[in-house]
Amino acid sequence: MPICIECRYPVKTLYTEYSKADDRSLGKGVRLTQCPRCKRFADKYVEHDFVVLFIDLVLIKPQVYRHLLFNRLGRDDDKFDRSIVRLGILLLLFDVYLTWARIEKLSLPLIAPHRSSHASPSNATAGSPSAVRAQEVATNAARLQAQPLILQYLFFLLLVTSSTLSFHMPIRLLCSINPDRAVPAGLPRKVWKTLIPHYPHPTPLSTALLVSSCTKLFPILLIIWDYDLPSSATAVSWAVIVNNVAALEILMDSGYLRAGVLVGVGAGLRSLVASFVLKSVGLGTGTGEWHSLIGVWRELEGWVGSVLWRP
Ligand SMILES: [Zn+2]
Repeated sequence: MPICIECRYPVKTLYTEYSKADDRSLGKGVRLTQCPRCKRFADKYVEHDFVVLFIDLVLIKPQVYRHLLFNRLGRDDDKFDRSIVRLGILLLLFDVYLTWARIEKLSLPLIAPHRSSHASPSNATAGSPSAVRAQEVATNAARLQAQPLILQYLFFLLLVTSSTLSFHMPIRLLCSINPDRAVPAGLPRKVWKTLIPHYPHPTPLSTALLVSSCTKLFPILLIIWDYDLPSSATAVSWAVIVNNVAALEILMDSGYLRAGVLVGVGAGLRSLVASFVLKSVGLGTGTGEWHSLIGVWRELEGWVGSVLWRP
């Protein structure tokens, strides 16, 4: 059942269509439903086009999220809407491009044998200025370009797919646990309920995470302008995380703390999986985003601790 995007009150229909009224292409044959509770239009976004939706999505307006998650993409049979499947594939392929461009520029790990063979040319003694310079420029690109292009593409596809799965799966799993039945690891039920919301519908959760990851499409501008890629990729990934938290909060009405904990767990696991895959083939993982994630995680832990154990 659709809801009023202003106050979440369920409404029967979002608009009434008058088929024999004026020219429908001008929108005159449609009348928006007024919410019986808040007396505003139940869903003004049925009349708006995609550009307006996208701008409001980036601005994290709760109404546009409610419109998308409940009134447009929500289904009763717990399956993905076709447009979400398409968006998921688009985001995945775009992520491959962005991750590839970012990883290529990172420097190789110090212990990689490939790096030492590049960094210590036979005619340069260790510690000489030329050796130091060679060490500075040894990036992942040198190691990647030794492989055929198709293999490089498949590797990044695998990396991005496993990262995405390791982000969605823990969130879906944690929300499926009903604390009234059993709480894992013997945690106090109250603590679990404070940190993890119960939401037994995994498909809307993934839909919310995908819709809120639309900000990922912003670096498409990188094709037009030449930005500093690693820093803009970090900025975009933080913007996406903020959007993810907002989307989960709006979907489950769970409060920002619990949505933040879920996204924190998912993002932490995603980082672990990504760095494991990269390290297993001897590529450098970079430190910026990883360390900032750990930093945020520790801050979150500290903050949660201070909230829970306040005397
Ligand atoms: Zn209302």
